[in-house]
Amino acid sequence: MGTKKIYGDIYKYYNKLAKGKQAIAYCVNVQHSQEVCEMFNSKGIPAMHMDSHTPEKEREKILQDFKNNKFKILCNCNLISEGITLPSAEAGLLLRPTLSLTLYIQQAMRCLTPNENKKAIIIDYVNNIQRHGLPTQEREWSLTTKVKEYCNENDDGTLKIRVCPECFSTFETAPVCPFCGAEYQMSSIEIKNIKEIELKKIEAEKERKRQEIMNRTAERVRNYKKPEECKSFFELVEMGKMLGYKPGWAFFQAKRLHLNK
Ligand SMILES: [Zn+2]
Repeated sequence: MGTKKIYGDIYKYYNKLAKGKQAIAYCVNVQHSQEVCEMFNSKGIPAMHMDSHTPEKEREKILQDFKNNKFKILCNCNLISEGITLPSAEAGLLLRPTLSLTLYIQQAMRCLTPNENKKAIIIDYVNNIQRHGLPTQEREWSLTTKVKEYCNENDDGTLKIRVCPECFSTFETAPVCPFCGAEYQMSSIEIKNIKEIELKKIEAEKERKRQEIMNRTAERVRNYKKPEECKSFFELVEMGKMLGYKPGWAFFQAKRLHLNK
Protein backbone atom coordinates (compact mmCIF):
# COMPACT_ATOMS: atom_id res chain seq x y z
CA MET A 1 0.00 0.00 0.00
CA GLY A 2 2.96 2.26 0.58
CA THR A 3 4.02 3.25 -2.90
CA LYS A 4 4.05 6.85 -4.06
CA LYS A 5 1.66 6.05 -6.88
CA ILE A 6 -1.00 4.84 -4.49
CA TYR A 7 -0.73 7.95 -2.33
CA GLY A 8 -0.95 10.01 -5.50
CA ASP A 9 -4.11 8.13 -6.49
CA ILE A 10 -5.71 8.68 -3.09
CA TYR A 11 -5.37 12.41 -3.58
CA LYS A 12 -6.23 12.32 -7.27
CA TYR A 13 -9.55 10.51 -6.84
CA TYR A 14 -10.53 12.37 -3.69
CA ASN A 15 -9.99 15.58 -5.62
CA LYS A 16 -11.87 14.31 -8.65
CA LEU A 17 -14.84 12.75 -6.89
CA ALA A 18 -15.19 14.35 -3.48
CA LYS A 19 -13.33 17.65 -3.66
CA GLY A 20 -13.90 19.78 -0.58
CA LYS A 21 -15.96 17.14 1.18
CA GLN A 22 -15.29 15.99 4.71
CA ALA A 23 -14.03 12.45 4.52
CA ILE A 24 -13.09 9.56 6.78
CA ALA A 25 -10.12 7.60 5.50
CA TYR A 26 -9.91 3.93 6.52
CA CYS A 27 -6.30 2.81 6.40
CA VAL A 28 -4.45 -0.48 6.66
CA ASN A 29 -2.55 0.29 9.86
CA VAL A 30 -1.47 3.18 12.07
CA GLN A 31 1.58 4.06 9.99
CA HIS A 32 -0.43 4.03 6.79
CA SER A 33 -3.02 6.29 8.41
CA GLN A 34 -0.32 8.73 9.54
CA GLU A 35 1.16 8.79 6.04
CA VAL A 36 -2.19 9.38 4.38
CA CYS A 37 -2.77 12.20 6.85
CA GLU A 38 0.62 13.73 6.04
CA MET A 39 -0.01 13.41 2.33
CA PHE A 40 -3.32 15.31 2.50
CA ASN A 41 -1.79 18.04 4.64
CA SER A 42 1.11 18.38 2.21
CA LYS A 43 -1.45 18.94 -0.58
CA GLY A 44 -3.08 21.72 1.43
CA ILE A 45 -6.08 19.67 2.55
CA PRO A 46 -6.24 19.78 6.35
CA ALA A 47 -6.22 16.27 7.79
CA MET A 48 -5.93 14.68 11.24
CA HIS A 49 -4.97 11.19 12.32
CA MET A 50 -6.01 9.27 15.40
CA ASP A 51 -5.43 5.76 16.69
CA SER A 52 -5.95 3.75 19.86
CA HIS A 53 -2.86 5.36 21.45
CA THR A 54 -4.21 8.87 20.99
CA PRO A 55 -5.16 10.13 24.49
CA GLU A 56 -8.91 10.17 24.99
CA LYS A 57 -9.12 13.94 25.52
CA GLU A 58 -7.27 14.51 22.26
CA ARG A 59 -9.48 12.02 20.46
CA GLU A 60 -12.59 13.78 21.65
CA LYS A 61 -11.20 17.10 20.47
CA ILE A 62 -10.37 15.68 17.05
CA LEU A 63 -13.88 14.27 16.68
CA GLN A 64 -15.44 17.54 17.84
CA ASP A 65 -13.27 19.53 15.42
CA PHE A 66 -14.30 17.19 12.63
CA LYS A 67 -17.97 17.68 13.47
CA ASN A 68 -17.39 21.43 13.38
CA ASN A 69 -15.73 21.14 9.97
CA LYS A 70 -12.38 22.47 11.21
CA PHE A 71 -10.50 20.02 9.01
CA LYS A 72 -11.39 17.84 6.05
CA ILE A 73 -9.92 14.36 6.32
CA LEU A 74 -10.07 12.15 9.37
CA CYS A 75 -7.54 9.32 9.03
CA ASN A 76 -7.73 6.18 11.11
CA CYS A 77 -7.12 2.48 10.96
CA ASN A 78 -9.81 0.57 12.84
CA LEU A 79 -10.95 3.17 15.29
CA ILE A 80 -13.91 4.73 13.61
CA SER A 81 -16.37 2.06 12.77
CA GLU A 82 -19.07 1.02 15.17
CA GLY A 83 -20.71 3.40 17.58
CA ILE A 84 -19.23 6.67 16.38
CA THR A 85 -21.68 8.93 14.57
CA LEU A 86 -20.22 11.62 12.40
CA PRO A 87 -23.13 13.15 10.48
CA SER A 88 -20.93 15.76 8.82
CA ALA A 89 -18.81 13.12 7.07
CA GLU A 90 -19.71 13.24 3.40
CA ALA A 91 -17.20 10.77 2.05
CA GLY A 92 -15.58 7.47 2.97
CA LEU A 93 -12.18 6.64 1.56
CA LEU A 94 -11.76 2.86 1.65
CA LEU A 95 -8.02 2.23 1.63
CA ARG A 96 -7.97 -1.05 3.44
CA PRO A 97 -8.90 -4.25 1.64
CA THR A 98 -10.95 -6.44 3.95
CA LEU A 99 -12.50 -9.89 3.80
CA SER A 100 -14.74 -9.04 6.73
CA LEU A 101 -18.23 -8.16 5.55
CA THR A 102 -19.05 -6.61 8.92
CA LEU A 103 -16.00 -4.36 8.91
CA TYR A 104 -16.66 -3.37 5.32
CA ILE A 105 -20.27 -2.40 6.00
CA GLN A 106 -19.40 -0.53 9.19
CA GLN A 107 -16.73 1.50 7.44
CA ALA A 108 -18.53 2.07 4.18
CA MET A 109 -21.77 3.10 5.91
CA ARG A 110 -20.14 5.47 8.40
CA CYS A 111 -20.43 8.42 6.04
CA LEU A 112 -24.04 7.57 5.17
CA THR A 113 -25.48 8.91 8.42
CA PRO A 114 -28.18 11.27 7.15
CA ASN A 115 -27.58 14.99 7.36
CA GLU A 116 -29.24 17.96 5.68
CA ASN A 117 -28.96 17.81 1.87
CA LYS A 118 -26.07 15.44 2.14
CA LYS A 119 -25.02 13.22 -0.70
CA ALA A 120 -22.32 10.90 0.54
CA ILE A 121 -19.63 9.42 -1.64
CA ILE A 122 -17.72 6.23 -0.97
CA ILE A 123 -14.45 5.93 -2.82
CA ASP A 124 -13.39 2.33 -2.87
CA TYR A 125 -9.68 2.19 -3.70
CA VAL A 126 -9.28 -1.48 -2.86
CA ASN A 127 -12.12 -3.39 -4.56
CA ASN A 128 -14.11 -3.99 -1.38
CA ILE A 129 -17.33 -3.35 -3.30
CA GLN A 130 -16.54 -6.11 -5.81
CA ARG A 131 -15.66 -8.34 -2.87
CA HIS A 132 -18.80 -7.72 -0.83
CA GLY A 133 -21.37 -5.96 -3.03
CA LEU A 134 -22.84 -2.52 -2.42
CA PRO A 135 -23.08 -1.62 1.28
CA THR A 136 -26.76 -0.81 0.83
CA GLN A 137 -27.74 -4.04 -0.90
CA GLU A 138 -30.20 -6.40 0.74
CA ARG A 139 -28.71 -9.32 2.60
CA GLU A 140 -30.14 -12.26 4.43
CA TRP A 141 -28.83 -12.10 7.97
CA SER A 142 -29.08 -15.10 10.21
CA LEU A 143 -27.99 -15.92 13.72
CA THR A 144 -27.60 -19.61 12.98
CA THR A 145 -25.92 -19.78 9.59
CA LYS A 146 -23.10 -17.84 8.01
CA VAL A 147 -24.10 -15.05 5.67
CA LYS A 148 -23.85 -16.36 2.15
CA GLU A 149 -20.56 -15.34 0.61
CA TYR A 150 -20.96 -12.61 -1.96
CA CYS A 151 -20.12 -13.42 -5.55
CA ASN A 152 -19.84 -10.49 -7.91
CA GLU A 153 -20.70 -12.54 -10.98
CA ASN A 154 -24.06 -13.18 -12.59
CA ASP A 155 -24.84 -16.61 -14.05
CA ASP A 156 -23.98 -15.34 -17.53
CA GLY A 157 -20.50 -14.20 -16.40
CA THR A 158 -21.22 -10.45 -16.32
CA LEU A 159 -20.40 -8.52 -13.16
CA LYS A 160 -23.16 -7.76 -10.66
CA ILE A 161 -21.49 -4.50 -9.67
CA ARG A 162 -19.85 -2.63 -12.49
CA VAL A 163 -17.53 0.35 -12.26
CA CYS A 164 -18.04 3.12 -14.76
CA PRO A 165 -14.76 3.82 -16.60
CA GLU A 166 -15.78 7.48 -17.06
CA CYS A 167 -17.05 8.66 -13.68
CA PHE A 168 -15.96 5.67 -11.50
CA SER A 169 -19.47 5.21 -10.10
CA THR A 170 -20.54 1.71 -9.24
CA PHE A 171 -23.85 0.33 -10.46
CA GLU A 172 -25.72 -2.94 -10.90
CA THR A 173 -25.30 -4.69 -14.27
CA ALA A 174 -26.47 -2.31 -16.97
CA PRO A 175 -25.30 -1.39 -20.48
CA VAL A 176 -24.86 2.28 -19.62
CA CYS A 177 -23.78 4.09 -16.46
CA PRO A 178 -26.91 5.44 -14.74
CA PHE A 179 -24.91 8.35 -13.32
CA CYS A 180 -23.18 9.81 -16.36
CA GLY A 181 -24.66 7.88 -19.28
CA ALA A 182 -21.34 6.48 -20.47
CA GLU A 183 -21.64 3.26 -22.41
CA TYR A 184 -20.19 0.38 -20.43
CA GLN A 185 -17.45 -1.58 -22.15
CA MET A 186 -17.32 -5.18 -21.03
CA SER A 187 -14.30 -5.71 -18.74
CA SER A 188 -11.68 -8.34 -19.54
CA ILE A 189 -12.93 -10.48 -16.64
CA GLU A 190 -16.45 -10.45 -18.06
CA ILE A 191 -15.23 -11.30 -21.56
CA LYS A 192 -13.22 -14.20 -20.14
CA ASN A 193 -16.17 -15.42 -18.04
CA ILE A 194 -18.57 -15.29 -20.96
CA LYS A 195 -16.15 -17.20 -23.20
CA GLU A 196 -15.69 -19.88 -20.54
CA ILE A 197 -19.44 -20.24 -20.05
CA GLU A 198 -19.96 -20.51 -23.83
CA LEU A 199 -17.25 -23.16 -24.03
CA LYS A 200 -18.82 -25.13 -21.20
CA LYS A 201 -22.19 -24.98 -22.96
CA ILE A 202 -20.65 -26.31 -26.19
CA GLU A 203 -18.91 -29.12 -24.28
CA ALA A 204 -22.13 -30.03 -22.49
CA GLU A 205 -24.03 -30.08 -25.80
CA LYS A 206 -21.36 -32.38 -27.33
CA GLU A 207 -21.61 -34.71 -24.36
CA ARG A 208 -25.40 -34.72 -24.57
CA LYS A 209 -25.26 -35.70 -28.27
CA ARG A 210 -22.70 -38.44 -27.55
CA GLN A 211 -24.96 -39.87 -24.85
CA GLU A 212 -27.93 -39.75 -27.20
CA ILE A 213 -26.09 -41.71 -29.90
CA MET A 214 -24.95 -44.28 -27.34
CA ASN A 215 -28.47 -44.69 -26.00
CA ARG A 216 -29.85 -45.21 -29.50
CA THR A 217 -27.13 -47.75 -30.30
CA ALA A 218 -27.89 -49.63 -27.08
CA GLU A 219 -31.60 -49.56 -27.95
CA ARG A 220 -30.95 -51.24 -31.34
CA VAL A 221 -28.46 -53.76 -30.05
CA ARG A 222 -30.89 -54.95 -27.39
CA ASN A 223 -32.90 -56.72 -30.13
CA TYR A 224 -29.92 -58.48 -31.74
CA LYS A 225 -29.47 -62.16 -31.11
CA LYS A 226 -25.90 -62.63 -32.38
CA PRO A 227 -22.80 -60.50 -33.19
CA GLU A 228 -23.34 -61.04 -36.94
CA GLU A 229 -26.29 -58.68 -36.76
CA CYS A 230 -24.09 -55.77 -35.66
CA LYS A 231 -23.50 -53.18 -38.37
CA SER A 232 -20.70 -51.23 -36.72
CA PHE A 233 -17.90 -51.51 -34.23
CA PHE A 234 -19.87 -49.37 -31.77
CA GLU A 235 -22.77 -51.79 -31.89
CA LEU A 236 -20.34 -54.60 -31.07
CA VAL A 237 -19.03 -52.59 -28.12
CA GLU A 238 -22.58 -52.13 -26.84
CA MET A 239 -23.35 -55.81 -27.34
CA GLY A 240 -20.16 -56.78 -25.50
CA LYS A 241 -21.17 -54.54 -22.61
CA MET A 242 -24.65 -56.00 -22.52
CA LEU A 243 -23.36 -59.57 -22.46
CA GLY A 244 -20.75 -58.72 -19.84
CA TYR A 245 -17.71 -59.44 -22.05
CA LYS A 246 -14.35 -57.77 -21.72
CA PRO A 247 -13.60 -54.87 -24.18
CA GLY A 248 -11.31 -57.20 -26.20
CA TRP A 249 -14.37 -59.14 -27.34
CA ALA A 250 -15.64 -56.29 -29.55
CA PHE A 251 -12.19 -55.90 -31.18
CA PHE A 252 -12.02 -59.62 -31.86
CA GLN A 253 -15.53 -59.73 -33.34
CA ALA A 254 -14.93 -56.60 -35.42
CA LYS A 255 -11.88 -58.21 -36.96
CA ARG A 256 -13.74 -61.44 -37.60
CA LEU A 257 -16.74 -59.67 -39.18
CA HIS A 258 -14.62 -57.09 -41.02
CA LEU A 259 -16.31 -54.18 -39.27
CA ASN A 260 -13.95 -51.22 -39.18
CA LYS A 261 -13.96 -48.72 -36.33
ZN1 LIG B 1 -20.45 7.00 -15.23
